Amino acid sequence: MKNFINEFKKFAMRGNVIDMAVGIIIGAAFGKIVNSLVEDVLMPPIGLILGKVDFSDLKFILTDDVAIRYGAFINALISFLIVAFAVFLLIKAINTLQERMAAKEKEEEAAEPTVKKCPYCDSEISIKATRCPHCTSELKK
Ligand SMILES: [Zn+2]
Repeated sequence: MKNFINEFKKFAMRGNVIDMAVGIIIGAAFGKIVNSLVEDVLMPPIGLILGKVDFSDLKFILTDDVAIRYGAFINALISFLIVAFAVFLLIKAINTLQERMAAKEKEEEAAEPTVKKCPYCDSEISIKATRCPHCTSELKK
């Protein structure tokens, strides 16, 4: 049992698991906010324009107990589109950030010196050279 708890701790303490949990929690909260935005803020004026309809109440009544509630389905669909668009923007922003970081790393690599001066003849030679190509002196690293 103690082993199991230790193993779980190890698993949970890995950064990406915590990141994932935070992502899921924020995602769920965000989904609720978008749902509310669609149902409570966006759709009422649209319903008003369309002739005072409450979208979440729109339905085809089949029998007394059964109805196809397509209004609620439309709400869910619009919520999904908004969430999908937000996720798209987020991923785009992350990609841009990663590309920028990669470009910066490349720049730093390029800025590193690739040549050195031979201490014997003062010629510029490759930083990896162990023997000078000009005066053939052996070079210490
Ligand atoms: Zn030299």
